[in-house]
Amino acid sequence: MRLQGKVIMITGAGSGIGKCSAQLFAREGATVIVNDVDKAKGEETVTEIIEAGGEATFLYADVTNAESAKAMVEAALEKYGKIDVLFNNAGISGVGALHEVEPDAWDRVMNVNIRGVYLPSKYVLPSMMASKSGVIINMSSCVAEIGLARRASYAATKGAVLALTKSMQVDYASYGIRVNALLPGTIFTPFVENYLKNSYDDPEAAIASIKKRQLSGELGRPEDVAQAALFLASDESKFMMGSPLYIDGGAVFG
Ligand code: NAD
Repeated sequence: MRLQGKVIMITGAGSGIGKCSAQLFAREGATVIVNDVDKAKGEETVTEIIEAGGEATFLYADVTNAESAKAMVEAALEKYGKIDVLFNNAGISGVGALHEVEPDAWDRVMNVNIRGVYLPSKYVLPSMMASKSGVIINMSSCVAEIGLARRASYAATKGAVLALTKSMQVDYASYGIRVNALLPGTIFTPFVENYLKNSYDDPEAAIASIKKRQLSGELGRPEDVAQAALFLASDESKFMMGSPLYIDGGAVFG
């Protein structure tokens, strides 16, 4: 078991990559704090983990809301006394070239994808600094590095998360804290399914063109990213600091 004894908080773990990571981490011996703004989906993840013999608890928070994020971290620390790993996974999509994006939609994507990394980290970091150890995994995307059509707001947030990861790593290295980023390509989750449905008249043709762009010729699966997250969460990656980890089927070369 690669995560025995670790307490791990995952934001947005009611669906997709977060849910899959929560299940994998629990199988590897972690106690998982499942967060989501969608209570029903978050609780479902927890029930599935417990039924499979793992340990998990649901904590509601909207990661864009300071009071909510702070209360979640306080509740977790009160219950478990520590958070070894924070996986900032919650995120939403943003579609459109810059001139097509309405200001409210722009702000919403910035809030969830950037503020939603800042707030949980802000409230978890003091306990990690006190214990002189900890791991933070930030969810970026390969769009941080490649230009994709009509993803202006989303790409801006994922580039920001990558820059923030590096900056955080420099600030907290002396406290024994590692901060790394995941850069997935297109992974087939509800997030991508909805994006394809809402953005294309012919989602099947869109999937075919995405497959062509990834050298693998396939979309990724949540498990592919969860395995990379497991590596970053475990001590096996102890020499990785401030690094971008690509799980993109070669999309950056496509
Ligand atoms: P998903 O939609 O399946 O899951 C995201 C979860 O985050 C949902 O359960 C949602 O309720 C939750 N969430 C949204 N806003 C929240 C908030 N304010 N507070 C708490 N929880 C909130 O998405 P996914 O595909 O699993 O994506 C997870 C992360 O991976 C996102 O950050 C996304 O940008 C990133 N990512 C996904 C892909 C992909 O192709 N699926 C590629 C690169 C990066």
